[in-house]
Amino acid sequence: MSQDTLALGKPLSLLSPLSGLIVPITDVPDPVFAERMMGDGIAIDPTGSTLLAPVDATVIQFFKTSHAMTLKTDDDIELLIHVGLETVVLNGEGFKPLVAEGDKVKAGQPLLEFDMDYLARHARSLMTPIILTSPDVALSSFATGMVEAGKSQLMVIGGSPEVNVVAGAAVIDCSGPPDAQAEVTIPNPAGLHARPSALLVKECKAFDAEVRLESHLTEGRADSVTEIMKLNTRQGDQLTIRAWGPDAPAVVNALVAAIEAGLGEDVSGFDAATFASTTDLVQLPEEAPLLNFASADPNRLNGVKAAAGMVVGKIVHTGDIEFVYEEQGVSTAVENQHLDNSMIAVRKALSELVSNLQTVGKQEQADIFAAHLELLDDPAITAAAKEFITEGCSAAFAWDKAIANEVAALRSLNNPVLAGRAVDIQDVGNRVLADLCGLMVSADNWPNNAIPVYKDVTPSDLLSLDLDKVVGLCSLEGGASSHAAIIARSLGLPYLAGVDVQIRELKNDAQVILNADSGFVQINPTLADVEHCLTFKEKSEAEYSAALACANEPAITRDGVTIEVAANIGSLADAQKAVELGADGVGLLRTEFLYLERVTAPTEDEQTRIYSDILGAMGPERPVIIRTLDVGGDKPLPYLPLPEEENPFLGERGIRVGINRPDILRTQVRALLRSAGKGKLKVMLPMIGALDEFRVVKKLVDEEAEKLGANVELGIMIEVPSAALMAPELAREVAFFSIGTNDLTQYTMAMDRGHPRMASRIDGLHPAVLRMIAMTCNGAATADRWVGVCGGLASDLEAIPLLLGLGVQELSVSVPTLPLVKAKVRELNLDNCRRLAQEALTMEDGAQVRELLKKWESEV
Ligand code: PEP
Ligand code: MG
Repeated sequence: MSQDTLALGKPLSLLSPLSGLIVPITDVPDPVFAERMMGDGIAIDPTGSTLLAPVDATVIQFFKTSHAMTLKTDDDIELLIHVGLETVVLNGEGFKPLVAEGDKVKAGQPLLEFDMDYLARHARSLMTPIILTSPDVALSSFATGMVEAGKSQLMVIGGSPEVNVVAGAAVIDCSGPPDAQAEVTIPNPAGLHARPSALLVKECKAFDAEVRLESHLTEGRADSVTEIMKLNTRQGDQLTIRAWGPDAPAVVNALVAAIEAGLGEDVSGFDAATFASTTDLVQLPEEAPLLNFASADPNRLNGVKAAAGMVVGKIVHTGDIEFVYEEQGVSTAVENQHLDNSMIAVRKALSELVSNLQTVGKQEQADIFAAHLELLDDPAITAAAKEFITEGCSAAFAWDKAIANEVAALRSLNNPVLAGRAVDIQDVGNRVLADLCGLMVSADNWPNNAIPVYKDVTPSDLLSLDLDKVVGLCSLEGGASSHAAIIARSLGLPYLAGVDVQIRELKNDAQVILNADSGFVQINPTLADVEHCLTFKEKSEAEYSAALACANEPAITRDGVTIEVAANIGSLADAQKAVELGADGVGLLRTEFLYLERVTAPTEDEQTRIYSDILGAMGPERPVIIRTLDVGGDKPLPYLPLPEEENPFLGERGIRVGINRPDILRTQVRALLRSAGKGKLKVMLPMIGALDEFRVVKKLVDEEAEKLGANVELGIMIEVPSAALMAPELAREVAFFSIGTNDLTQYTMAMDRGHPRMASRIDGLHPAVLRMIAMTCNGAATADRWVGVCGGLASDLEAIPLLLGLGVQELSVSVPTLPLVKAKVRELNLDNCRRLAQEALTMEDGAQVRELLKKWESEV
């Protein structure tokens, strides 16, 4: 193999990641390690069961089976730590990962715990090799005897400029078509993990050729174990082998043979043909029967109502912008000048945007674009672009390449915070590129009445929208109870989720009618269609104005029962708006929404300030229910990265995060208690599923309340079926219930609330969900507790008679719908609603419930 290798000039010292006895690598009873097929290293026979980071690094690969990981230091040194021998077969049993792929870790930080007893009984050995897999550096020295985790030095890498330099090897050019190529199916049950990769590298190195492997559209060098492992292959995957150089045909043949033979593993049971045909068999049929969005009307693109409303607007496709430019520059001076000019123009535009947003009080959005200004001035990106210009590239090509490299580097780290930064860099990059290419694509240049179309829309996307221009939005993915949908409702923006992908075929600026109420986008609307839409809008606006006129009056049913209509809020601005629109209180403050943009955890003082401000804004009379942090599932918080989970909605989510990490919960509880005197505070816990969960949190709250001399009512959300089923028992101990119909529907129907193919099936009006609500209200009544609904169903005017009829006493709704919900309540007679609800409970499905509601509305 040709190999250009360099040494690390400065020695790098590694701490011992485990306590135990040092074993020379040559004594490890596995030739893959002993013969240094994967690289040089050392092994530890452990006496402790917590693996620590030996150095500051990024976890660039963490095997699904948790038995091994690759770390990469800032100097690009890669280390593989393989806990035990042949532990891949344990399939994760006995391992508890403490970090995730993409995490940045500090020397001494715990990475993984393992059950020594279990491993000793089930694996070949506990001996843990630590292998230097970077080909371009070498070990200078290593420890002997016993070492202590996080304290003893394990080894020193590099330090000598001569180390490991391979001189004089001919460089093989692999820029053209390969000299030989073949495809092979991977037979290994766990794909190409460490062992088979090492054997593949060994095989490859015997030839004078440059070899690349490709799988899942990812390419890697065949002479690097880490690159092969990063292909992330599984049994049955196709692998393309390409080779250049004198031995190309021979190496391709040898690698095909070695892979088919299993690279040291028993693959005798594997038959590529049968495997392929069995995987074919389980593929979805062409016509998936569950959901068919295609509409019979070619001018209608169907979707799912995620936020109500009907608007006329112009399509703006987000992402995937095509920039057209020359690759070749005119001259270095000219291209540098182009780039400088565009950067000045973008800097000016961004500064104006920031100050405009500040002027209209949109500080949160101003902060986002102020951060973009800083990214624009990132010297590393500019330097990289100028370097490309010096090499003869045009300014646009150079800038595009510099941005693409930066974005790819950040994305490859698989870290949500850095991935978020990559999106920002791409955004800023596109502004400069647009200026260089004479295009206007940035959001502040969108047309009036814009309807942006996203693949999937995030809460942050929504927070950065210019609401003076945007009248509605569409997304190809997502559903009605996603958090983006919640924000769209709070902004009063019609939003259609899971829209037919044909929408991507429309031109930017194409006029459409977004009819979220009826679940479609109408394309090519006639003048009459547009007029009809505008008239409808006028009518709705008239109804809204009428409702608004009495928004500050209480919502009293015809038979004299007062229903509290409160607001769902996520910020101080929402609280102020809610008061304006007649909220009787706040039924749900989603505290996680306060911190969506933060990369560091809010302190107790910061939290106290914001809760006090919100309580102050709502005044002394209106109750304010603040929910403790509810993260996980589709709500990631950048400052609180949670480990990747197979089923995040069923894992560490909601109150479980607080129970597992009491420090976070305690800080928030203290802040809440400290602000309690500023208004009528009640605290609510998300996703309580069992009595003991409530009790442990109640104990924590009581402890802090005693220390601070404060007191607060503690209620819970009912959003998992186990809580609804245990409502009578829970009611004896909690102060109140608020039903989260978004999650209660998701968990009752076992359908992901954001899943595009479930969106038309997941239905809060399904009798199964209504029965859960009935059970909750009945359970609460046994202990004389009140029940509210703060999920999306409370904002659905159609559902209100049912909710009240089932026994709900408080409705907490999106801010813009407050006046309409109050107006709806005033139309109702509670006795009639009770009869309606009892009948609805006997229906067979959501469609029947809707039919019943239609009939009922027409009769009353
Ligand atoms: C719910 O699940 O209905 C709810 C109100 O909580 P969230 O939407 O924030 O999960
Ligand atoms: Mg919820």
